[in-house]
Amino acid sequence: MGTEPAKQPVRAAVIGAGVLGACVGWNLARRGAEVVLIDAGRPGEGVTDWTFSWVNASNKTVRRSYFDLNVAGLAEYRRLSEAVGPESWWYPGGHLRWSDDPATEAKWLQIADLLADWDYRVEVLTGDEARRLEPALSMPAATPVLFYPDEAWVHGRHLVERLVGAAAAAGAECRFGTGVSAIRTDADGSADGSGGGGGDGAVQAVVLSDGSSLAVDVVVNAAGPDASQVAGLVARDLPMRREPGAVTRIACARVPIRHVMHAPHIEIRPDSDASMVLHSREIDALIDTVEDPAELGGLLHESVRRVLPELEGSRIVGTRVSNRPIPADGFPSVGAVPSVPGYYEAVSHSGITLGPVLGRLLAVEILSGTRDALLADFRPERFPAR
Ligand SMILES: Cc1cc2nc3c(=O)[nH]c(=O)nc-3n(C[C@H](O)[C@H](O)[C@H](O)COP(=O)(O)OP(=O)(O)OC[C@H]3O[C@@H](n4cnc5c(N)ncnc54)[C@H](O)[C@@H]3O)c2cc1C
Repeated sequence: MGTEPAKQPVRAAVIGAGVLGACVGWNLARRGAEVVLIDAGRPGEGVTDWTFSWVNASNKTVRRSYFDLNVAGLAEYRRLSEAVGPESWWYPGGHLRWSDDPATEAKWLQIADLLADWDYRVEVLTGDEARRLEPALSMPAATPVLFYPDEAWVHGRHLVERLVGAAAAAGAECRFGTGVSAIRTDADGSADGSGGGGGDGAVQAVVLSDGSSLAVDVVVNAAGPDASQVAGLVARDLPMRREPGAVTRIACARVPIRHVMHAPHIEIRPDSDASMVLHSREIDALIDTVEDPAELGGLLHESVRRVLPELEGSRIVGTRVSNRPIPADGFPSVGAVPSVPGYYEAVSHSGITLGPVLGRLLAVEILSGTRDALLADFRPERFPAR
């Protein structure tokens, strides 16, 4: 009986160590792939550190398949927190939402009915009941407050650090502080100087900004808002939207809430024992009208003190405007790009909610070729080849 030649492990370069890249890299490394995680900056310091970071499916009813993917995202977090430990990054406990505008309130109550029909857990509390969960809130006693008990928030940078550490422990190599400037394929004729050309365009190597080159057979584009540029390195058009968002961190003596919440005109969550994160779509709409993002931070800070009066003595630590990594039609682009063998995309808004599930499904696809039905509506092929 002959012996089968040992199968070579996949050699994969994951470009970008935000939540998407860290989830893909860890899932590949723990399944035996040779992984190099590459980031032009520091891991987890891109959008993943300047996001509202709410893990949810209640805001994803635009399409049933997208809702289902986000529900799978929530379930995956529970598995992930068991696999790598929840300390310092995983904050379950639910989400609260209420409004001071009757039309908006009616819209959210209607969505809550739809979600209940889809078997998603939601409770309608009164303001008084909500204040039993969050005594520091200022809100009218009878206001309906939606409570989604299965939702959560995540500390994105800490999660990335945990996953990068776990990936490294499983053998992954880390190259941080140096970006990918080129991707060589066997159609180029000079993949890492080894000649060739005239092939089917399969990935052969990545070239880093420090001039070094790494031979790989798989590249994962997890470059977040820069994913279009990285796609351009294999002559692929990945159309992305411009949709910037402003996030502000404040420091306070005591964090007066435990839950992530959408209050009137302001979204609020804890960030550590002495800091909180603020965001608002209404303030995002002003981004192009101000010169200094600090002005946006000032407005967010003003809003939060209306809902949480005890934050009067808090101060702004920083405000950052980031571009959401959103493919042009608003949905994730995840999976293989058949026209470039070995090239895969992991590009998504709601990347905090979706990172762990997308990371697992993509790693399985890379290693076994299995295309999960959950990703059917979100495959990169829907954007035509150049
Ligand atoms: C205001 C705002 C609020 C949000 N709120 C939520 C929310 O509540 N819930 C939710 O689920 N999602 C939310 N999101 C979206 C979510 O934050 C993102 O989808 C997610 O963080 C994206 O992660 P990423 O890993 O793709 O990108 P990033 O974290 O930006 O990581 C990409 C990495 O790629 C690196 N990189 C880029 N180009 C190269 C290159 N050529 N070579 C090497 N490295 C490179 C960068 O340095 C960066 O570290 C929000 C986003 C914003 C902006």
